[in-house]
Amino acid sequence: MNLLYQSTRGKETGVTASQAILKGIASDSGLFMPTQFPKLEIPMSQLAGKSYHETAYEVMRLFLTDYTEEELKYCIANAYDDKFDTKEIVPLVKADNAYYLELFHGNTIAFKDMALSILPYLMVTAARKNHVDSEIVILTATSGDTGKAAMAGFADVPGTRIIVFYPKDGVSRVQELQMVTQKGDNTSVVAIHGNFDDAQTGVKKMFADQELAAELAAKGFQFSSANSINIGRLVPQVVYYVYAYAKLLKEGEIKDGEQINVTVPTGNFGNILAAYFAKQIGVPIKTLICASNDNKVLYDFFRSGIYDRKREFILTSSPSMDILISSNLERLIYLSTGCNAGETAKFMEQLTSTGEYTITEKMKARMADFYGGFATQAQDAEAIRSLYEKTGYVMDTHTGVASAVYNRYRKEEQDETKTVIASTASPYKFSKSVMEAIKGSLPDLDEFKAIDLLHETSGTAIPQAVEEIRNARIRHNLECDIDQMKDTVVKILGIS
Ligand SMILES: *Cc1c(COP(=O)(O)O)cnc(C)c1O
Repeated sequence: MNLLYQSTRGKETGVTASQAILKGIASDSGLFMPTQFPKLEIPMSQLAGKSYHETAYEVMRLFLTDYTEEELKYCIANAYDDKFDTKEIVPLVKADNAYYLELFHGNTIAFKDMALSILPYLMVTAARKNHVDSEIVILTATSGDTGKAAMAGFADVPGTRIIVFYPKDGVSRVQELQMVTQKGDNTSVVAIHGNFDDAQTGVKKMFADQELAAELAAKGFQFSSANSINIGRLVPQVVYYVYAYAKLLKEGEIKDGEQINVTVPTGNFGNILAAYFAKQIGVPIKTLICASNDNKVLYDFFRSGIYDRKREFILTSSPSMDILISSNLERLIYLSTGCNAGETAKFMEQLTSTGEYTITEKMKARMADFYGGFATQAQDAEAIRSLYEKTGYVMDTHTGVASAVYNRYRKEEQDETKTVIASTASPYKFSKSVMEAIKGSLPDLDEFKAIDLLHETSGTAIPQAVEEIRNARIRHNLECDIDQMKDTVVKILGIS
């Protein structure tokens, strides 16, 4: 079967997977969606015996049907190699009453590595398949983790350049150091004077700018996106939910066919949407628990059916979730309208022009698989401390939000269904916040002392990614205002 993609806003249809990956976002600013959901072709009992690589192939071939077996296996083998510090790629750790799916064993110790280790291979393969000979310029907005993971993936990949925009005061010290020390002649990093939503909106504007696209084309460039709106990021993320279920089955934690819940600390709605895709292709998932931090737009949305971004943007200790415009929600909106692109486009236009939209009761009913929760910074810290005290297991501040939300859900809904919590970052990435959660306020602790203290406290090895930035040279120092993002790109590419 040849699976095709179309824009959630209707103007682009009949797009192959490789074309969708190359483009990143549709020309009408919509997101690419498969025209139907494929189904897993081998039974879970058989998947239970497979490695991460084999599982990845079984899942990705369903969605990326215009890639050959050889191409996909090449991409998978090169992505999930010894860049990961564990052979398992994604260990599943039981602690207290949940299973923590550790998605942070890659290059940059956050879950973005799961998709961004493979995206460059998928994209370069796509360029070859589609006879693209212009240089691909990856434009990316980051709330802290995507930027580094994308640069690590694309650094010195021939035929590509990458430009990353991050909010100057909206990322952790480790996240910032990881980005500004990035090597690779084709990488650029720009701090913007604004928040993540400003960065994301600015990037989306450049994608929709036809004049800019023409200028780029004339100079031999074309834009693509490494943000989670790219279907080439979403599909690799479906893999680990399938893998987690198969693993639970293999270890006898669940019976074949038994439903599980999944809890995901959410920002741009990419990771949890991947879990929803996993459900659609046949993984027995009951409830998808969407955990937000103080920027609880999604919690309010799932309660009321009103998406309202008109509110204060709060900087929290889980910065990668500090987002008020969750881009990937557009895909769920589209599905809940019964794949009505016209209606989806209207909601998205309302969001842009008025800052809010209200979905219908029917749409809301179609989202019944989702449960929204949120945790304040104090509740996040409490969850980290209490799990550590109970079990010795240390989680990061994003996973802490998920853990806090899950524990409340479990009590309030009296739902004892076995639950996988997506553990999205290594605690070493947010050492100071994590250590303060465990030990209380530590005003004199700098980030690197916090790392050493975390090492002593948890007894876990300090990841290579952290050691690397201790003494690395700063290579990037560009900054700009929100309204200078386009000029900055033009300058970096030298096309003015
Ligand atoms: C990006 C990120 C998230 C949010 O994931 P989305 O797919 O944007 O919802 C959560 N935790 C960490 C550590 C992240 O880097």
